[in-house]
Amino acid sequence: MAGGSHGLLARAYFRVRPFIPQTIRWSLRRIRIPGIIRRHSTVWPIDNTASEKPPGWVGWPHRKQFALVFTHDVESKTGLSKVRDLAKLEIAHEFRSSFNFIPEGPYQDPARLRQWLDENGFEVGVHDLNHDGHLYESRESFSRKATTINRYLGNWGAVGFRSGFMLRQLDWLHDLNVLYDTSTFDTDPFEPQPEGSHTIFPFYVKPPAGHKGPGYIELSYTLPQDSTLFILLQEKTPAIWKRKLDWIAQHGGLALVNIHPDYIDFSGTGNSADCYPASLLREFMEYIRSRHHGTYWNPRARDLAAWFRTQFPPDHSEDSRGPDRPHPPQDP
Ligand SMILES: [Zn+2]
Repeated sequence: MAGGSHGLLARAYFRVRPFIPQTIRWSLRRIRIPGIIRRHSTVWPIDNTASEKPPGWVGWPHRKQFALVFTHDVESKTGLSKVRDLAKLEIAHEFRSSFNFIPEGPYQDPARLRQWLDENGFEVGVHDLNHDGHLYESRESFSRKATTINRYLGNWGAVGFRSGFMLRQLDWLHDLNVLYDTSTFDTDPFEPQPEGSHTIFPFYVKPPAGHKGPGYIELSYTLPQDSTLFILLQEKTPAIWKRKLDWIAQHGGLALVNIHPDYIDFSGTGNSADCYPASLLREFMEYIRSRHHGTYWNPRARDLAAWFRTQFPPDHSEDSRGPDRPHPPQDP
């Protein structure tokens, strides 16, 4: 699903995906893991080139050493039922985050839950439209879907977007009325579109010539997704998260993570192959608070993007750091 032919293979995969049970899907993905890890050992989980600061970088607000942003994609009805537990875990650790919901996917628009999140200081964002892997199938269909997505963005008071499966066409995203997108990553060779942005800093995506839009801010996720670490790689500790976080802190970057409520086991029974124990999350949150006490800025993604926009107004931004710069060889 990668390399030169990944578009075609990915398309075929997303056509059959709905018919494959989730546990089988994880097992199928696991077959490729040893090869991916071997080929990307120098750029995952840490890509040293990603620590380069953007031109004119002034540092984070309040002179904090690094920024820490939690985001959550809610993939299913099961995930929906665990949103409050996850939010409460963050409240207990004095963190705030963004929850991204699928507008027209496996569940109804969770209006009351959105309101509860809003009242408790969380952000709500839009996650794809149908979450079926077909969002970018053609330019025309994307334009049509963008109109619908913009309606949800408006109704929900949302300014952030993330595609399903981290698929992306950053040029097309100018159709959306967003302040920021977070469908990219600094390095993540496990995704169907495995090219990284190679940066642990936000960057501005200019509209193409002739496009009237204001452009948007791209926030790459820089810590591996929980699903990658604990379900796909079957890690038993958050050691990789801690190591990467320390490295990002050392380089003054943005630690942005995507945690799915769907895969968290809050019950403590530990008898599901598709879930990891909430204790791993708790351990990571406690680590952040003790090891990095007082040194990080933990805004919601929208607040970080708004701040970045004031620091690097589009008119003055010459940052041309592309999202898909050349990368070491991908899977054959
Ligand atoms: Zn998703």
